[in-house]
Amino acid sequence: MQLIARTAWGAPATSPAAALPSARGVAVHYLGTRYDSRPHSECAAQVRSIRSAHLANKAENYADIAYNYLVCEHGHVYEGRGIGRRSGANGGTAQNTSHYAVCALHGTTGQPSADLLRGLAEAIAHLQQHGAGQEVVCHGDLTATACPGGPLTSWVRAGHPLPPISTPPATAPTPEEDAVPHRALLETSDYVRTVQPNTWTTLNFNRLYDGSKWVTKDPEPSILLGPAYYTVSLAVRVVGLERGQEVQLRLARYRHDGKKYVRASAMPISSPVHDGGKGHFVHTWTGHVPAADRGRLRAEILVPQGPGVTVDYARAEGLYWPA
Ligand SMILES: [Zn+2]
Ligand SMILES: [Zn+2]
Repeated sequence: MQLIARTAWGAPATSPAAALPSARGVAVHYLGTRYDSRPHSECAAQVRSIRSAHLANKAENYADIAYNYLVCEHGHVYEGRGIGRRSGANGGTAQNTSHYAVCALHGTTGQPSADLLRGLAEAIAHLQQHGAGQEVVCHGDLTATACPGGPLTSWVRAGHPLPPISTPPATAPTPEEDAVPHRALLETSDYVRTVQPNTWTTLNFNRLYDGSKWVTKDPEPSILLGPAYYTVSLAVRVVGLERGQEVQLRLARYRHDGKKYVRASAMPISSPVHDGGKGHFVHTWTGHVPAADRGRLRAEILVPQGPGVTVDYARAEGLYWPA
C-alpha cells in the first residue's frame, strides 16, 4: 500500500477525532461532485481542500477531515483520521461507530481506475488488520444517499475485488499462452505470527515476488483471488513446539456472501512434531475457486493442544489458471 501519512500531505500528525478501536466494518464513499482526472502532483492539495472544507463546516462541527482514509485515482492512500478513530462521514454517530469510512477521490462521472480500486481495497484491508470487521458496505447502505455512486456501488456489491495478484500480460495472450499458468509467490519473514492454542489462525504474508524482485507490503491474508484453478504449495516453520505437539495446516477457501467472506471449505493436513521445538511443514493443494464465489484462498494453522506457538516463516507458492 502506498500510504501518504498525515504529515506528508499537510495535516497535523495526530487526528483529534474520538477513539474507536474496533468497528463492524468499513463504508465506502466518493466525492459526490464532478471530479476530473488530474496528475498525481495535485492529489495532496485535493485532500487538503477536503479537510479545509470539513473544518469550515459549522453544521457538522468536524474536528478533522471526516474520513479514515482517502484514495486517489493513482492508487495512493491518504491517511485521514487513520486507524482507531471514529469517522464523521457515515451520516450519524451510530453509523460512524459501526463502520470506518474510506473515500475515493472519484466524482459523479467516469469509471474508477484500477489503481483507485486497488488502493481502496488496500485501505479496507489495512483497516481490517486494525480493528475493522469483515463487513464492507456503501455509504448508502447506512444512510439515505447515492454515495458512492453507481460504479463504486457495483464494485462493493461484487465483494470489492482486488486486481489479480500477478501482473497480467501486457499484450493479449495467444491461445498457446493461455495454457501457461500465472504464478503467485508470497512470503512472510519479518512478520511473525503468534498462534494461540485451539484457534484456527490465518497466516499473513508481507512479501510478494512481483516477477523480478521481492516487494514488502502490508500483511495480506489472501494467497490467491478467484476465479481460478490452482495448485498452491505452503511451507511453514513453527517454533516453540513441545515434543509430540500436533500442528494442523489447512488451505481454506472463502466465498463472498454479498457482505462478507465466509469459509466455504477447508482442506486440513496434520503432521507429527519434530524434536527440538521446531516444525517445518510443507504441503500442496490443488482445487478450484468458482467464479460465482468471488472467492479467495487463505492459509490457516491450528495447534489443538498445549501452549501457543510462533510461525517465524511461511511461504506460499501458487500456480493458477484463471477460470
Ligand atoms: Zn459518502
Ligand atoms: Zn494521485
